[in-house]
Amino acid sequence: MNIKGILVISRNIHFSKIMRKAKVEAASSKDKRVTRNKTTVEEKISVDLSTFKKKVKPKLSKHTAFEVIETLETAQDIENIEVKQEHAEEVAIKQEIEYKISPQKRKHIKIEYDIKNEETKKNRNIPCNWEQVLDNLREMRKDADAPVDSMGCNKCHDDDALPKVQRYQQLLALMLSSQTKDQVTYAAMGRLKEHGCTVENINSTSDEVLGKLIYPVGFWKSKVKYIKKTTEILQKEYDGDIPDTVEKLCKLPGVGPKMAHICMKTSWGLVTGIGVDTHVHRISNRLGWVNTKTPEETRKALEDWLPQELWSEVNHLLVGFGQQICQPIKAQCATCLNHELCPYGIKYIKNELKGKHIKKGN
Ligand code: SF4
Repeated sequence: MNIKGILVISRNIHFSKIMRKAKVEAASSKDKRVTRNKTTVEEKISVDLSTFKKKVKPKLSKHTAFEVIETLETAQDIENIEVKQEHAEEVAIKQEIEYKISPQKRKHIKIEYDIKNEETKKNRNIPCNWEQVLDNLREMRKDADAPVDSMGCNKCHDDDALPKVQRYQQLLALMLSSQTKDQVTYAAMGRLKEHGCTVENINSTSDEVLGKLIYPVGFWKSKVKYIKKTTEILQKEYDGDIPDTVEKLCKLPGVGPKMAHICMKTSWGLVTGIGVDTHVHRISNRLGWVNTKTPEETRKALEDWLPQELWSEVNHLLVGFGQQICQPIKAQCATCLNHELCPYGIKYIKNELKGKHIKKGN
């Protein structure tokens, strides 16, 4: 047999291994969307193996869509995913999943720390009726009974601890909260506080013990590493305190712009930007307040026109609203006070009345 023949056989063996792995993962998943994705994958493999190895395999092996679904924000999300969804909702959840399983996309997002002077803001695209929409959001959130209201990151620290310890705990809660339900973060912080949630104590805690304390927060293994590295930096460079600028906070392992802006508000009382998580991103787009693809784009677009004194409030309002009413799927548009002002709601209700399904979710 010539060298070319050996290479072909070797490539086929490698190909078979990849196919076996993809099939095993497909069989273990209950989600039919995932299975459909793998069918697509098989087609892609037959065409271009190198593309599969570079682009598709990581999504299947480390961050399967099913794993990501488990990390969506509310129990209602998961419940809704498990039953069959309509086309528009599938599109919406697919977008949500695609964002969450594509960390490589986020690596290239340029983070801007500066707050533009009101006078220098240009090309403002101020949505109509936004003040009425905001008033309606306040009305719908007046009971403050969403998970974020009682178990959000600003509710996880020990009020009796030293200020710098409280700030450290607030930062840790934010790190744990990424892609994790508030209830889960709150419980993990409770265990950490019982263990002793100070810079010194976490530095001397083994990765294994720390992992057990924070489990089952989303991506807990990565978070163990980030927390250990960040805590070490805080001890060496900040005397056990946390940095007091967005730029320095974003340099800590595992800390992104959303966390940094929220941390600046909760820990230092400074509003430096809008904390845009998946809820703020989704709802801002549905309302037509922005037209963006990523939370970081949403932050910049919102900051372009929304008065700065509302930045902190809007984060809190939209997160709770997203947990209770404007969920990723099955948004409760019919009972939402904004259904006549919200482009997504108008379209959704119109099509519901016609007995059709809307074509695009956002
Ligand atoms: S009308 Fe529907 S999509 Fe629009 S804000 Fe209300 S719940 Fe969300």
